[in-house]
Amino acid sequence: MKYDRKILLTPGPLTTSEEVKKEMNYDLGTRDNDYQSIVQNVRKKLLCLGKVTETKYSVILLQGSGTYGVESVLTSTISTKDKVLILSNGAYGERMIQICTKGNIPFCTVTNSMINSLNLAEIEKQIAQEDITHVAYVHCETTAGVLNDICAIQKIIHKYHKISIVDAMSSFGSMDINIGELDIDFLITSSNKCLHGVPGIAIIFAKKQTINNCKNISRGLSLDLYDQYQVMENNPGSFRFTSPTHVVLALNKAIDELIESGGIINRNKRYLFLQEQIRKHMINAGFKTLVPLNIQSPVITTYLYPENFDFQKYYDYFKHNGFLLYSGKLTEYKAFRIGNIGEISDNDLEKLLYLIDNYEVDYENR
Ligand SMILES: *Cc1c(COP(=O)(O)O)cnc(C)c1O
Repeated sequence: MKYDRKILLTPGPLTTSEEVKKEMNYDLGTRDNDYQSIVQNVRKKLLCLGKVTETKYSVILLQGSGTYGVESVLTSTISTKDKVLILSNGAYGERMIQICTKGNIPFCTVTNSMINSLNLAEIEKQIAQEDITHVAYVHCETTAGVLNDICAIQKIIHKYHKISIVDAMSSFGSMDINIGELDIDFLITSSNKCLHGVPGIAIIFAKKQTINNCKNISRGLSLDLYDQYQVMENNPGSFRFTSPTHVVLALNKAIDELIESGGIINRNKRYLFLQEQIRKHMINAGFKTLVPLNIQSPVITTYLYPENFDFQKYYDYFKHNGFLLYSGKLTEYKAFRIGNIGEISDNDLEKLLYLIDNYEVDYENR
């Protein structure tokens, strides 16, 4: 083998199971029944996980990473006469702003520090004042690992009858999100985060009533969400352009494994367990976390550099022993992140905790 097995403590790509990897050993034709029925199965199972029915919602699969999905929604559902309010408390909210800037989409913003969750009073004030049609925000801001209050934000959005766009990239699959009850218009996630698939597909839950009004809004061709929706609904199992067949096979298996292992509720419990174990040992080793526990998401934790800390050395030590840590995206803070999503076994955890506990002895002073 060319590469050693590594456990990825990063928020996507992540460690996938052997079975998910094996699933990609087959070459299927995109216009063949065998493949198309798998695509349909994946879409149906996703509807179930999102707790919605196909009368009201459509699951649209789009080639590309998560950002392609976010860009597709923003550029295909907000017309030049509309205006979107972007709520941002981190790099992924900033990315929405970048997309709207590049795509000439009318927008305004409410921003907040990446170590706080979005401020509800401020959001309401802005929604009431501004002449807006849409509100877009990130559920779990993976930047620092902060969770935003999706229920409360949806309530405000509905009070003012706006269309909601939710980036749930790093929360869907590990947190109970009742898309129907929350009445979300567009929710975006991807194959390679809490669903434990490989990278290559953006997943968009679209409320049919809303997307049916989005014909000819898109600024581009390949990211035209409405067209992709039409093809997925009218030619079941089809993508518009070359379909990522192997990624779909892997995703299908990964979703089966999620369901078999007790569904989203159990995955959430598993993540919380892993996260708490790692945090305990990190704090014991002298690290401090950046985000207050009451707004801490279950997927990734940010640790501040202790004094005289050499992150590269620390990183190399873990890499050498089979684990990849995640450096910061946190311009204001000297910090790094440890993700706890993906197929991390009890054995892996035990080894990781041992490495955390024995860093100085084992490495820096050897
Ligand atoms: C991972 C992630 C994305 C998408 O990033 P890609 O690199 O395009 O997959 C978007 N938003 C959030 C919150 C994420 O965690």
